[in-house]
Amino acid sequence: MEPLKIEREESKLRADPSWADICLTCGTCSAGCPVTGVDGMDPRKIIRMAALGMDQEIIDSRFPWICTICGRCEYACPMGVKIMTVMRTARGLRERDKVPGPIHKGVVMCLERGNNLGIPKDDFLFLLADVGKELEEESCPGFYVPVDKEGANFLVTINSKEPFGEPDDMKFWWKIFYAAKENWTTTSENWEGVNWGLFSGDDEAMKTITGRIVEHMDRLSISNLLLPE
Ligand code: SF4
Ligand code: SF4
Repeated sequence: MEPLKIEREESKLRADPSWADICLTCGTCSAGCPVTGVDGMDPRKIIRMAALGMDQEIIDSRFPWICTICGRCEYACPMGVKIMTVMRTARGLRERDKVPGPIHKGVVMCLERGNNLGIPKDDFLFLLADVGKELEEESCPGFYVPVDKEGANFLVTINSKEPFGEPDDMKFWWKIFYAAKENWTTTSENWEGVNWGLFSGDDEAMKTITGRIVEHMDRLSISNLLLPE
């Protein structure tokens, strides 16, 4: 009797065609995954689906978005299966208007206005000056927020949720810089430190947003970066 043959479709999500044969279905990935069981999530199941060429089912599912992209599964897999890579690739293959939540909108906003929440430049600069003044009066005499300072020792990016909703949180870093007498700066434009292209699977946007930080560092002759996010 002839052995049964399963016809496997090629998968765009399968980084290595041999996965279908090397995955042991041991479940180590599932055991270590912090979101196994959430709405039926199971990394072992995703790898089996990718091995069978079920790309569209994975792309249309919630699994890649439930995944936190933490990488524990890849680290633990005894066979070196690139599970996290599959998850992120699947995110990137989702139609942009079907990306869940606000992250794609944040990417578009960042590309257009330089930060995920679209905070205008004048408002941002006013806020930096205002909160900086508060800090000076509270505990740091002579403190101010240096913006676009050439030759600073390091550049600091900012998470837009801080100036938008939690401006006092910026003071935590500033107090450290003040106490350490650091020569630092931030920028007046394109200062966003949270690259949502990473999370939405948008490599082009991620490159553009990262490239802006590199441009700042070149333009201002700064060789160190603090990306607090
Ligand atoms: S840990 Fe690796 S080999 Fe084991 S089930 Fe997961 S993907 Fe397959
Ligand atoms: S990268 Fe995703 S699938 Fe892998 S362990 Fe983390 S949450 Fe789970």
